[in-house]
Amino acid sequence: MSESCIFCAITAGRASARFVYEDDDACAFLDINPLRTGHTLVVPRRHVRDLTDEGAAETIASIGPALQNTARLLSTRLDADGISVLQANGAAAGQTVFHLHFHLLPRPTGDSQLT
Ligand code: 5GP
Repeated sequence: MSESCIFCAITAGRASARFVYEDDDACAFLDINPLRTGHTLVVPRRHVRDLTDEGAAETIASIGPALQNTARLLSTRLDADGISVLQANGAAAGQTVFHLHFHLLPRPTGDSQLT
């Protein structure tokens, strides 16, 4: 855990967020600045900076159920026809919160925007 990390604070319950799903390994909550309705972040409880960080492989393996369950919840609740998954590693790639996370973006049929 990193004391200064907002996603560590949210997953530990020290900061608030609108949770969609949680289990022992990960949380899913609505993005504070959504790109579209239902924009959700799936975030491991363990603090790993990005895909290149030590422990990233094990961490990603542990959040498979959270990714699948959150995708299923978004599909059902928002009647999404598809879901895009975006993930940034490093500032040059657009990462702004340096705690590994996946963006899940619900997509209606005919939606041609990438994000
Ligand atoms: P990145 O740019 O690192 O791929 O994505 C970080 C995301 O976290 C952004 O979409 C941003 O809106 C979201 N975010 C940043 N701070 C907070 C926060 O305090 N609460 C929530 N729910 N989302 C946040």
